Amino acid sequence: MLHRLRAGRSSRDESPVTHVERVAARTGRTAPWPEWVPAALREAYGFEPWEHQATAAAYAHSGHNVVIATGTASGKSLAYQMPALSRLLNDPRATVLYLSPTKALAADQLRAVARLDLDGVRPATYDGDTQREEREWIREHSRFVLTNPDMLHHALLPAHAKWAVFLRRLSYVVIDECHTYRGVFGSHVSHVLRRLRRLAAQYGGNPTFVLASATSGDPAGAASRLTGLPVTAVTEDASPRGAVTFALWEPPLVPHEDPDLPPTRRSALSETADLLTDAVVSGTRTLAFVRSRRGAEVVASMTHRSLDEAVPGLGKRVAAYRAGYLREDRRAIERALLSGELLALASTNALELGVDLVGLDAVLICGYPGTRASLWQQAGRAGRAGGEALAVLIARDDPLDTYLVHHPEALFGRPVEATVFDPTNPYVLGPQLCSAASEAPLRPADLDLFGGEPARLAVEALTASGALRKRPSGWYWTHQGRPDVDLRGTGGGPIAVVERSTGRLLGTVDEGSSHVMLHTGAVYLHQGVTYVVDNLDLDDAVALVHPANPDWSTHARDVTDLSVVAIRERVDAGPVSLFVGDVDVTNQVVSYQRRRIATGEIIDTRPLNLPTRQLRTVAVWFTITPDALLKAGVEPPDIPGALHAAEHAAIGLLPLMATCDRWDIGGLSTANHQDTESPTVFVYDGHPGGAGFAERAYATATAWLSATREAIASCTCETGCPSCVQSPKCGNGNNPLDKPKAVHVLDTVLTHLPPRH
Ligand SMILES: [Zn+2]
Ligand SMILES: [Zn+2]
Repeated sequence: MLHRLRAGRSSRDESPVTHVERVAARTGRTAPWPEWVPAALREAYGFEPWEHQATAAAYAHSGHNVVIATGTASGKSLAYQMPALSRLLNDPRATVLYLSPTKALAADQLRAVARLDLDGVRPATYDGDTQREEREWIREHSRFVLTNPDMLHHALLPAHAKWAVFLRRLSYVVIDECHTYRGVFGSHVSHVLRRLRRLAAQYGGNPTFVLASATSGDPAGAASRLTGLPVTAVTEDASPRGAVTFALWEPPLVPHEDPDLPPTRRSALSETADLLTDAVVSGTRTLAFVRSRRGAEVVASMTHRSLDEAVPGLGKRVAAYRAGYLREDRRAIERALLSGELLALASTNALELGVDLVGLDAVLICGYPGTRASLWQQAGRAGRAGGEALAVLIARDDPLDTYLVHHPEALFGRPVEATVFDPTNPYVLGPQLCSAASEAPLRPADLDLFGGEPARLAVEALTASGALRKRPSGWYWTHQGRPDVDLRGTGGGPIAVVERSTGRLLGTVDEGSSHVMLHTGAVYLHQGVTYVVDNLDLDDAVALVHPANPDWSTHARDVTDLSVVAIRERVDAGPVSLFVGDVDVTNQVVSYQRRRIATGEIIDTRPLNLPTRQLRTVAVWFTITPDALLKAGVEPPDIPGALHAAEHAAIGLLPLMATCDRWDIGGLSTANHQDTESPTVFVYDGHPGGAGFAERAYATATAWLSATREAIASCTCETGCPSCVQSPKCGNGNNPLDKPKAVHVLDTVLTHLPPRH
């Protein structure tokens, strides 16, 4: 693989390598154990902490809420274990609550703490798999409880009376991987934590919060928004790291079989499989990150096949790795890779991987993972002390990926993104206030905790609608049962996914996503197993599926209508105006495409018969007068295609500014919108009430639209391709699109709009 990189660099024009960046090695700095750490704990660890671990631990020990935001494998666990376990050893009554976004991570942490074998700590995981008898024992005896936000929301907080002693003695709340709490889920978790704080306070507990985050922009701000408390950040990483060579790779264009059609780009999956094959042949231990489970399996099997063709038997040195496997199996695969028994692994996402899986020779990242933070987290798995490691980002055929491999400055030497979520989202705030009231009546003084004025307005509305009842002592939830609140989705009841032949319930999908994910004919992935949907029945809220292994994927197509409800803020700049505000979006999934997984080739488009859906959300939009467009060379017949192309690219590039995925965002462009009476491009949050993405786009509009313009202008295609203005989720089949005129549209906006970053 390294020789391919070198060969690539020498012949510039042909080379898929667009940039090579050297990330220097770093030597580690240790710090002495703080004197408050009991000898038993120091001995159990047997090594000295790194400086950043000691700094964060000192903040936590002195009662300051702290977030440690450093790279992969920098030892963030010790930073919270040190103060938390010291406290448990020094105060035999104190308790600690640990929250992780995944069960796998909680299980790893449990093992790490249990291995220390400390007297009287009795660590235990408390999750959906915990048996009833065990739960009682944990409540009464465990002093280090490891759980997740869903369990806190559904089980622990509603039964707070049973947890009264634990909550009164709660000394630390540890929130691991806190950067994963973003978007609507992040808004929900921020309120679950406020509910925890309120109940702990009612029992006399006042815990210190210790958060661990991947490297992220403004970690103190995000942690503070998440907990509602002032939080200090520790960001300087003092752990040692080997040097890494980071290459950006753009798959080459290959001529179309039909000479009249333009060339298409080789798929990122095929390129990744080729590089992985080279890696195994040269004995390089390599981990490939692929965005979908199915993609990871495709890469592993392509690699397997070409290795066996080269040297029979060599194929068994590569494996796929995914969430559906048992934890023991996953850890066995990781050990095999670390020992060199396996040489290559194709995996989905970093959170499922064990913390020990570091120090590899090379990491391949197939497709930009969506944020610089995750990019660095994945690349951080490469790098041996004293050795030279390699990381390669392989671009998919997508505007953001293409932009990044041609603009390395957007990846290197720039701070990583801020984690975006909005605790005041009314679609989250209302249900969360009901949950809080069902746990204990809401007092007027509580409302400051839940956001002040927006919370007051929400409580009034909930009282008026009869959800809450006002009594002299506060607001009460007086209904049967608990409010039905799902942290991971909003609106509509969940759709049950049921295996047709066995009647087995595989899982649920929120109603909002079901039209796209579970329409009849959709390919649906569950725990790494592929199913095809036989029938989606919205009346009965059930989707019947059967297991299958098709070599095609499905892509839903939709039509959208949008009306402006209220303008929150605007900038008027001559013929151009920029807005952020509330909008109503009407959306209908009307058909779906089937595409070959390996090549992306479209097999066919099939109609669907689904009802329309309504979404009240937040949008950013800009308008330009037809006169200004004409001056820029965009004639009236060109306007729809020019705006549509600009809209697609703008959606593709928004993840550069905010921690969202292009699938979290929608768009609409029109030559004359009924509410703006002008040519308009709208980009909106795909979640009810908004998730903070449109506001972020509004705040950084010039940087965002400049990158969009650049992505379109620098693409070498003639009439638009998936790397610039085509969108995989376009409801209009990518028609009309006018690539050159889209550049004129964005130039006009950028000429008039005052700089916003
Ligand atoms: Zn293009
Ligand atoms: Zn479109």
